Amino acid sequence: MTKRNSRTGFVHLHWIQANVFYRQELTTQIERWGLQDAGFNYNIVAVFGSQSTGKSTLLNRLFGTTFGVMDETKRQQTTKGIWMCRGKDMNIMVMDVEGTDGRERGEDQDFERKSALFSLASSEVLIINLWEHQVGLYQGANMGLLKTVFEVNLGLFGKKAQDGTSGRTMLLFVIRDHIGTTPLANLQATLTADLQRIWESLSKPAELQDRQLSDYFDLAFTALPHKILAADRFETETRNLRGRFVDKTNPEYLFKPLYHKRIPADGVAFYMENIWEQVQTNKDLDLPTQQELLAQFRCDEISAGALAEFNEQAKPQKRPIEAGKVVEGLGGMMRSWRVMALERYDRDASRYHQGVYKRKRADLIASLDGTLSPLFLGQLKNLHKACLGSFKKDILDGLKGEEYNFADVVSKAKAKCETRFTEGAKESVVDDSAEGATEWNWEEELELLKEECRKDETKKMVNAIERNFKKQISEPVELALNKATPNMWDMVLKAFQETLDKAEAMYLNKATSFNCTEEENTLSIAALRRRAWQALRTKIDEQTSDSVFVGRLRAHFEERFRYDEQGVPRVWKPEDDIDGAFKKAKEQTLELIPLYSKIVPVDSSMAYTLPSDAASSTDSTMEDAFDFESSLVVFSETKALDLAAKFRKDADLAYVEAKRSTVSSVAQ
Ligand code: GDP
Ligand code: MG
Repeated sequence: MTKRNSRTGFVHLHWIQANVFYRQELTTQIERWGLQDAGFNYNIVAVFGSQSTGKSTLLNRLFGTTFGVMDETKRQQTTKGIWMCRGKDMNIMVMDVEGTDGRERGEDQDFERKSALFSLASSEVLIINLWEHQVGLYQGANMGLLKTVFEVNLGLFGKKAQDGTSGRTMLLFVIRDHIGTTPLANLQATLTADLQRIWESLSKPAELQDRQLSDYFDLAFTALPHKILAADRFETETRNLRGRFVDKTNPEYLFKPLYHKRIPADGVAFYMENIWEQVQTNKDLDLPTQQELLAQFRCDEISAGALAEFNEQAKPQKRPIEAGKVVEGLGGMMRSWRVMALERYDRDASRYHQGVYKRKRADLIASLDGTLSPLFLGQLKNLHKACLGSFKKDILDGLKGEEYNFADVVSKAKAKCETRFTEGAKESVVDDSAEGATEWNWEEELELLKEECRKDETKKMVNAIERNFKKQISEPVELALNKATPNMWDMVLKAFQETLDKAEAMYLNKATSFNCTEEENTLSIAALRRRAWQALRTKIDEQTSDSVFVGRLRAHFEERFRYDEQGVPRVWKPEDDIDGAFKKAKEQTLELIPLYSKIVPVDSSMAYTLPSDAASSTDSTMEDAFDFESSLVVFSETKALDLAAKFRKDADLAYVEAKRSTVSSVAQ
């Protein structure tokens, strides 16, 4: 159970009565102490010793803490457990280990082992507090405690001590109520000899047989006068001792860096909880494993924190990208989110086990890029669309005027389009170092864009050529169809063929400068041929619409009926053969209908046949395959009959008029 006294800032880890360690409480407390972000810039000290030997009193003097001190008048035993507190105005966490003398009851021995493990795993300095009269009592309670400490230490640091870099701990013996008759040096010699004997009596694992006490521990000894009988000197001496804990320039400074257990402050709570659990279940505890577990847990936590912040930043840009927008400065934003996330991770996680830190960093990069990559690809897609759109528009605008150079318009639009895409794409690249596995490739998308641009150019060119074709075919067709000579279609087809040949040549000439493929050329030419034919047919339809055609028939008829061979208007006399003339003119005129009904040249070599690939090629202007044969028919039979009937009405009217004119001339 963890008890907290918010006024004094205590965390009481009480681990015999309740088998739970409240990590959150310790985390909260470390935060409250302001040590969360201290990294390695903090120290931990623990005190051990028999009950009521003035341990708490000493700690309060040394570190300005407020650990509970036994009330002299009541002499009641304090509860077993470990109290933890931050030293006043110093980055020191102080552990006050309370318990009974471990020799007497089995349960206490167990507590002693657990508290030894817990303290050793984290503390840099372990204070062993004892009365002067306890020195030399090799069988005494302290010696049992030390044996436990040594055993536990072998388990914890045995594996790692070889490199000599960590796992060392300072054992500071504080001899209380030192009278002074026996000099400290003598007491120190006695204690050292006892420690040596204990060390030798340990049953060590085979691989650690040769290890010396000095491989793991540095020893220091100090003595304090009686607190009440020599109060002044007690105060002076404790103040001196305090200096060895807080003053880094003190030659006897106790918190040497090599004692540090290298647990970042923000990981202390988790680390201690884990040790607590291992202690509870009596599992083997070794520090390298514990540190790796700690690193995994903390690096995951830190990574998750960095990722959450990153996701918050990235989120608002997702929607516009999905909606097809090109987000201005996206690359800059993405790079900064990513750098911030990694900096955040590095700041906190780099203090942990390096292998774990690096592995989790790679995982984090993969997660970050997993979010960034779709944004990047979306941006490329949107850029592609936008650039293609303005390319098309630029070409259309460029071709609006009367005077333009198609190749110029295209090359300008193309350069603009490619520059814009390339600049936008480069800006969106997040990482071109080899740090992540993600590909930030935009060159392929550029190739796709160029391809589409080229297709569009070709299409535009074909359109331009088609427009030109229409212009050129118009006059010769009108001319030929107006004349209604028997070789009318020969003239039309000749003009068609010549104009088409020119158009094809123009296409091929320009296509070479666009690097069109053979296949594209074939397709374009086929489309061009069909569209040319359709243009011709449209022109023919226009020239043979009902009104135009009936008008033409009427004119043809009147030329023959109302005018004589010399082109002089006839004035009918009663003796004239009106009927004969009428019949002849009518017949001659009706002959025109079959002439116009189908596109058939007199000279069969002039006949044009649309190549089958042109008839079947489908482009956007034509969905169904094109039936060339039926396109040769201008008037169907019904249509021809209908036209003939319309014409007859006109002719009959002219006949009646002619008759009437003779009657009226007679009447005069
Ligand atoms: P702890 O149980 O080891 O934490 O001991 P405490 O600090 O609670 O002190 C136990 C008793 O010893 C208290 O009544 C203290 O006043 C008294 N005491 C503290 N320091 C000294 C000392 O240096 N010498 C003597 N003789 N008594 C002390
Ligand atoms: Mg105490």
